[in-house]
Amino acid sequence: MTPGDEVVVALDVGGTGMKCALVRPDGATVHAERHATDAARGPEAVVGTILDVAEGLAGKARADGRTPVACGIAVPGVVDEARGVAVWSANVGFRDVPLRDLARERLGLPTALGHDVRVGGLAEARLGAGRDAGHVLFVAIGTGIAAAHVVDGSAAVGAHGAAGEIGHILVRPDGPPCGCGRPGCLESVASASAIGRRYAELAGAPATAAEVADRAAAGEPLAGRVWREAVEALADGLATGQALFDVATIVIGGGLAQAGPRLFDPLRTALRERLTFHREPRLVAAALGDEAGCLGAALLALDTLAKESR
Ligand SMILES: [Zn+2]
Repeated sequence: MTPGDEVVVALDVGGTGMKCALVRPDGATVHAERHATDAARGPEAVVGTILDVAEGLAGKARADGRTPVACGIAVPGVVDEARGVAVWSANVGFRDVPLRDLARERLGLPTALGHDVRVGGLAEARLGAGRDAGHVLFVAIGTGIAAAHVVDGSAAVGAHGAAGEIGHILVRPDGPPCGCGRPGCLESVASASAIGRRYAELAGAPATAAEVADRAAAGEPLAGRVWREAVEALADGLATGQALFDVATIVIGGGLAQAGPRLFDPLRTALRERLTFHREPRLVAAALGDEAGCLGAALLALDTLAKESR
């Protein structure tokens, strides 16, 4: 058997869909498939689908003459990576599901369970836009703002599984309520949803963050104001992040990163204005798109395999 024959089974389970793949140790995807999560069926049915899909992928690998050597699964919500338990998830409905052990029993392979954003950050830091940076902050901006702090290829988990959550840095004490229950978190001001909400509030008509960016670029004053407010709040949050983490590169992913230079140019300037003695990080767009979670799950599986065989 040549090393090229080995693959890991990787799954990234989201609220609506699962991205699944067979990934080689060098990070190359040799097979990919997608499945519906259909979370409305309840967590037991979702777990059943996860195990069936993982087993199917391992079978597919063998049928293609490859050897599945490990399995990695990424899930959203609160994840206890050390125990391999999906502790809680609002959009998938998990409550204390020992997913790692269930998959390990079903597949007979070393298995790792990870948090979707942390493994996404892991992938961006090792294979994507943060490659070779060593210290990376990955920030995913969409419905909310989630983040991961990656040092030398491993994502900090924290004592309670919540390290790097810069979406809940307080940036506007008088700001709008955040999903976490407190007003003024970065997420409540600068997520894509928050930008749309703020524009609707001021303009009296709904708009997505992408539309706000377009209208701001076209010179509409109200959109320009909303966009500027969001960029300034983001810069406040990132400056705090830089004070805490001193990273070489900040990788911005999620829907808002699609705004490209309309986001990155003013954000870079605003961040620079806020830094004093801290070094300015490189600010770049994520490179792996929605495959980051699946690739990260594969990397986590490979890390687990390396640890277990030591
Ligand atoms: Zn919050």
